[in-house]
Amino acid sequence: QNKITILGIPFDNMTRKEFLERLYERMNRKEKTFLVTANPEIVMYAHDNPDYYKLLMEADFIAPDGIGIVQASRKLQTPIKERVPGFELMLGLLELASLSNKRVYFIGAKEDIINLTVSNVSEKWPDLEIAGYHHGYFNHEDPQMIEKVKATRPDIVLVAFGFPRQEKWIKSYLAAADYGIAVGVGGSFDVLSG
Ligand code: UDP
Repeated sequence: QNKITILGIPFDNMTRKEFLERLYERMNRKEKTFLVTANPEIVMYAHDNPDYYKLLMEADFIAPDGIGIVQASRKLQTPIKERVPGFELMLGLLELASLSNKRVYFIGAKEDIINLTVSNVSEKWPDLEIAGYHHGYFNHEDPQMIEKVKATRPDIVLVAFGFPRQEKWIKSYLAAADYGIAVGVGGSFDVLSG
């Protein structure tokens, strides 16, 4: 698989479409998948925080989220195909999930925000199977929450705690889960709720 490393982060050199195709395959094969959409802030943070860097190295896919990453790749003479914004990848996953009867769990953001997010999402994709949802203000070390999410059998878990919190939680979640794609979506629910 074609990877392009920028500041030590091995990005997958795939278009948005290719990311969605690969994710869809893995979802159908019930393979656990840790997806990271890394923007320049995440890259810089990982550069300065070895524990977070190690966590990112455990991801199955790292998408180049932001034009800054693409520009850096061009400067280094190892051009990345295209920018893959996390928000768009999330919308693509929701679309795929809706078309293929996959179950999605939404976790993160404040209670009113998550409620609005879920109601907007179900309006936009009426056929989407929402496995469940929960706000993001609980003790992220609490294993009960992991069990609670797992029990809803989600194919996709969207985790909106902001980094590095979301990636830490995803690691523990995937260690306990039997299958599913988990991705940190940062402040995306704040956008989806609007
Ligand atoms: N958030 C959360 N739980 C937390 C901290 C943050 O669910 O313990 C949510 C917050 O409500 C927002 C998203 O994570 O929807 C991103 O938060 P913030 O902008 O503070 O993080 P940053 O993007 O600055 O890392």
